[in-house]
Amino acid sequence: MASALTDKLTRLVKEMRGQARITETNVQDMLREVRMALLEADVALPVVRDFIARVKEKALGQEVLGSLKPGQTLVSIVNRELAATMGEGVADINLAAQPPAVILMAGLQGAGKTTTTAKLAKHLIEKRKKKVLTVSGDVYRPAAIEQLKTVTKQAGAEWFPSTPDQKPLDIAHAALDYAKKHYFDVLLVDTAGRLAIDEALMKEIKDLHAALNPVETLFVVDAMQGQDAINTAKAFKEALPLTGIVLTKLDGDSRGGAALSVRQITGAPIKFAGVSEKLDGLEVFDAERHAGRILG
Ligand code: GDP
Repeated sequence: MASALTDKLTRLVKEMRGQARITETNVQDMLREVRMALLEADVALPVVRDFIARVKEKALGQEVLGSLKPGQTLVSIVNRELAATMGEGVADINLAAQPPAVILMAGLQGAGKTTTTAKLAKHLIEKRKKKVLTVSGDVYRPAAIEQLKTVTKQAGAEWFPSTPDQKPLDIAHAALDYAKKHYFDVLLVDTAGRLAIDEALMKEIKDLHAALNPVETLFVVDAMQGQDAINTAKAFKEALPLTGIVLTKLDGDSRGGAALSVRQITGAPIKFAGVSEKLDGLEVFDAERHAGRILG
């Protein structure tokens, strides 16, 4: 696939015409362009460094030095490495648990947790034929509870009521009891988010995790989040055994470098991408396609 990066690298190679062959220095120049492309896509700096080191090793392993089209060869190495880092095949939601399978949603406020909870409910109802209950543990924002109620109904799932005067753990236990008694297959637990990482929030979600023993703990992260994605991802990874990532707002014009940062920091698979505000705007994440987008 032709990309802005391929064009740049082809130009670099043209400038080298007259030289007998590509040298290590030329490869360094090309890698500098790759580095720029990743930084422009908002991949976090330490992640870029690691990535470039891995690509350099492969590139200098003769593949680029000896090839007839060194620019294109390097781009395809970069593409392959990006896709390999971000993906590991299709990773749908794991429901292998004694019902109800609990799915815990984690992430900062505004990342898209509530929207994604309803999108997942719709996905599990329509694609996996499951009976789905949702509950909100966000006792700090009554509007967040109401929002979950509204979108849950739109998704065709059932909503379990909670109120701001309750404790998140009590809400979780009550919802779990109800889900068991009424034979729900899945319980989706939306949680409170803050605008920035904060210790009380992390303790709360850790306690919820311990009480609920979820089969999936999904980290919801905004693809528009740039360099900061790495800090958010680190904090959530330290607090919780994440089983997957949902990258939201990929319909925006960001190049989505956060995908690489978050994947590398958490080690968890990117399972879904949010591609609209609407409830059908959830797609299985496609690592190869996303690699092309990051390179621009
Ligand atoms: P929460 O605070 O993490 O629960 O975030 P919300 O679910 O309330 O989402 C915050 C805002 O982002 C809302 O306006 C959503 O409509 C919007 N949003 C969530 N996911 C997506 C997405 O994939 N694409 C777009 N364009 N907007 C989204």
